[in-house]
Amino acid sequence: MDAQKKTDSPLVLVVDDEPVMRVLARESLQQFGFEVIEAENGEEALSVFDELRPDLLLLDVKMPVMNGFETCKCLRASAAGRFTPVLMMTGLDDISAIEQAYETGATDFINKPINWVILGHRVEYMLRASRFAEELRDSQTKLANAQRIASLGYWELDFATEELTYSNEICEIFGVTREELGNRIDSLLDRVHADDRIAVDEFRRILGERRDGGELEYRIVKPQGGVSCVRQQVEFVRDENGNVVSGTGTLQDISERRDAEEKIRLLAHYDSLTGLPNRELFLERLDIALATAKRHERMTAILFLDLDRFKRINETLGHSAGDLLLSEVAARLVRCVRSTDVLSRASAGEPAQLVSRFGGDEFVVMLSELTRIEDAATVARRMVVALKESFSIAGQEVFAGASIGIAINPYDGDSVEALVKNADTAMSFAKSEGTDSYRYYTQSMNAKALERLALETSLRGALERDEFELHYQPQLDLASGRVLGAEALVRWNHPEEGLLLPGAFITLAEESGLILPVGDWVLEEGCRQAKEWHDAGHTSLRVAINLSSRQFDRWSFPGTVAEVLERTGVEPGLVDLELTESALMKEEETTKALGALKEYGIRVSIDDFGTGYSSLAYLMRLPLDALKIDRCFLEGVPYDTDQAALVDAIMAMARSLKLDVIAEGIENEAQLSFLRKRGCRNGQGFLFSKALPANEFLEYLKRSENETSPSVRSLAG
Ligand code: C2E
Ligand code: MG
Ligand code: MG
Repeated sequence: MDAQKKTDSPLVLVVDDEPVMRVLARESLQQFGFEVIEAENGEEALSVFDELRPDLLLLDVKMPVMNGFETCKCLRASAAGRFTPVLMMTGLDDISAIEQAYETGATDFINKPINWVILGHRVEYMLRASRFAEELRDSQTKLANAQRIASLGYWELDFATEELTYSNEICEIFGVTREELGNRIDSLLDRVHADDRIAVDEFRRILGERRDGGELEYRIVKPQGGVSCVRQQVEFVRDENGNVVSGTGTLQDISERRDAEEKIRLLAHYDSLTGLPNRELFLERLDIALATAKRHERMTAILFLDLDRFKRINETLGHSAGDLLLSEVAARLVRCVRSTDVLSRASAGEPAQLVSRFGGDEFVVMLSELTRIEDAATVARRMVVALKESFSIAGQEVFAGASIGIAINPYDGDSVEALVKNADTAMSFAKSEGTDSYRYYTQSMNAKALERLALETSLRGALERDEFELHYQPQLDLASGRVLGAEALVRWNHPEEGLLLPGAFITLAEESGLILPVGDWVLEEGCRQAKEWHDAGHTSLRVAINLSSRQFDRWSFPGTVAEVLERTGVEPGLVDLELTESALMKEEETTKALGALKEYGIRVSIDDFGTGYSSLAYLMRLPLDALKIDRCFLEGVPYDTDQAALVDAIMAMARSLKLDVIAEGIENEAQLSFLRKRGCRNGQGFLFSKALPANEFLEYLKRSENETSPSVRSLAG
């Protein structure tokens, strides 16, 4: 049957019980190019229809078995025959038959006796109309589908009658039936979310004034609960005189899109490592909190926290250990905030406290609705204590420690930026005063920060202006009092501040990277001086030179040293490089660089020994010459028994590693005799001399050779 349908000429089913009528109809229709099939009654017609699906039925009313009306009814009830055009043949002027024909779903009627010429035209016309109707139905279905898929509803408001008409989608979006929604605009407006009413009213007012279209997004409340987000688009319809007669528009449910946007927003606002809000979200929340705090005249505190030893742990144990540490830190911080009784509970949906990770090892905490300034310190103290405790990371016990700066709104700033910046400044101050501490921000910190900036600027020009000089602190053989050499210590002849000690500028130089050129200068000047003294007859006088870890970290460092040795002509054995433990952290690089230095014949010492993290097993593998006991371990010696025991332990360890030991910061006789008893052979300190300019050092040297120096006399005793 499909094959039959595919021929171009339409197929007409002629249904009549009179054979003559059927023949006449066939003759005339075929002349118009139609194909024709026949049926004797309604029942037969329906089964032929099922089989061949004709494009049109020419249907007689009066037939045995099943008459035309009934046939038409059955046809319309079936899915396939709902829209097939039916031309009913009725008796002339039989009004009731005509009415009944339309009632049962006939498309049109034609009077008997049939005008056979007209019949062809009529059928042709009906088929064309049917095709249009089908196309229309098709595009309507497509439109309705598209609207359903897009959750898009259509409405129209007649301004004269104030009657509202709308598509089914509108009911769907509002979650109500057509009866419930009615045909008045107020019924829709009643369902707008309370928080969006003002915006919607304002939108309507502007539209009413401007009399042209617009769009707005707002929320509606569904009767079964829940809120939908919709986008409303409005246009005005004008008559031929340009007068506005109605408003039409679409309403689209955009809840899903909004949800998706919100999800993306959340993903972009949380730190994936710790699960804490990130910087962006924190600043956003802080902004809201500040606005609320202003209205209620409440205080908000910002705690800016930076880990004290993260970098070192990260470098020694690796990044995945560093990641574990950060997650653990985050968990402890959250617990500190939760367990805090001085803070108010969450209110109005916004948490009163928020812990966020700003990046790296920086965490920022917001405490809103603060009633007393001291409460911020209570929380800060808890955090410092919690982070001072050791962490067990990858089977190792490590100590992270933290420094915290506190800024309070409104006293330390009105804006998000100012508060965070000031808390950060306070944190730097806390850190510079020693680890594991917190500080409130004060105005004077800004002044100090500016001072630092000015210092950095002048530090940049200091090398060119030749403002650095080296002073030399004698290093002695503690048994004989002989001067073995000197530690070169840098000084800055500041044009305004006078002579500055390293404590005033070395950290700044390291932070700004200026330590590299400054350190290179120190190295060259120290070597040059050693060579000069050597040439003057002091052939075994050693010069110790301090190195920053940043210098040592440079891959090109051994090469730089070789060049300096060559340029100055100094004997490598007279040069002693002092490195701190932190400079030696990266095992592979350290071993390589130290190996190269040893090949040149240079000595290497560990400075400030005991203050770093070095493991003994590790140190043992490195080609070192000496340990310098940090002066903090000597302060209480010999009366502080703990410190005395520590010095003992260091001495024993150095012996087993076959390393020389130099004691730093010997200030009194008691320390000296303690060290000598423990077998410490070398030392330096104010008891003998402070660091001296090169010429004064030479005088000191000559005096000590004549054995007239008071310090040497004290050694003899
Ligand atoms: P350091 O290498 O541990 O140097 C010893 C410091 O202790 C020197 O301070 C010295 O003056 C001081 N000192 C010596 N004997 C005593 C004593 O008996 N009692 C007390 N209280 N102190 C004593 P200075 O010159 O202020 O240097 C401080 C630090 O600055 C040095 O510590 C070193 O780490 C760094 N530094 C100095 N010069 C340089 C340099 O040229 N390059 C680099 N990278 N760092 C340097
Ligand atoms: Mg030193
Ligand atoms: Mg030292």
